[in-house]
Amino acid sequence: MLNNYDEERFIPGIYNYCDRWCERCNMTQRCLLYHKNSRREMEHRLKGEDSHDWDIVLQDLHESFQETLELLRKHAEEEGIDLDAIDTEAIISELADPSDHPLHIKANKYMDDAHKFLEKLHNIINEDIENINAGNTLAEDIEEIKECFEVISWYHMQIATKIHRALCGKMEAEEEEYGESDEFSSMHDANGSAKVAHHGLIRTMDALTKVYEWNKSLHNDIMPLLIDVYGLINGVDREFPGHKNFKRPGFDE
Ligand code: SF4
Repeated sequence: MLNNYDEERFIPGIYNYCDRWCERCNMTQRCLLYHKNSRREMEHRLKGEDSHDWDIVLQDLHESFQETLELLRKHAEEEGIDLDAIDTEAIISELADPSDHPLHIKANKYMDDAHKFLEKLHNIINEDIENINAGNTLAEDIEEIKECFEVISWYHMQIATKIHRALCGKMEAEEEEYGESDEFSSMHDANGSAKVAHHGLIRTMDALTKVYEWNKSLHNDIMPLLIDVYGLINGVDREFPGHKNFKRPGFDE
């Protein structure tokens, strides 16, 4: 349960439109999700448990699901909605499915290709580290490339996930009466998800370009990825022009 201090301290919904890279986030003190996860980790440590153990992860997920369900029930009760009367199967069968959308296909293709490229890059970096240890390569170079590896790695799946969510939101918005500016509308969420995808794409483009400049032998691997990323940036801009004005809580306002 949050007290008044917590309500002022935490920015509502900040974790909905961030890139979830908490180790690098400068808003951890204002983020309720980070706070909850850190508290959970500390509790596990105190009990001598490994928070990465699969059984513990499942237990945490279960608890978190129960918490969300409780909140949902409370909210539904206040609004006079009977959750048990809702036909969930009918809702699931009507969920938007954007898997045939060209942007969706492109994002998933990029994810698979980037994954293969990362394996190759990982091996080359390891070889270079051995060379550095033998005194043959500049150490600063490899530190920058390791950073690029982390960036490409962090975003390559998230871009596809966020584009999927944005496309779902856009499809659902076609059935809604809310306007795009209504923060409860699916289009609002779609623009927010598109903005996160766009942010990841721009960072990826920069990282790929640095790796391209660093190693000639990787040009044939990187150029198709750069073309894909460029295409995805254009696709996101075209499909979700509203993402440019979207204000991510805590980051853009
Ligand atoms: S806002 Fe920052 S701390 Fe919170 S989930 Fe996102 S990246 Fe992590």
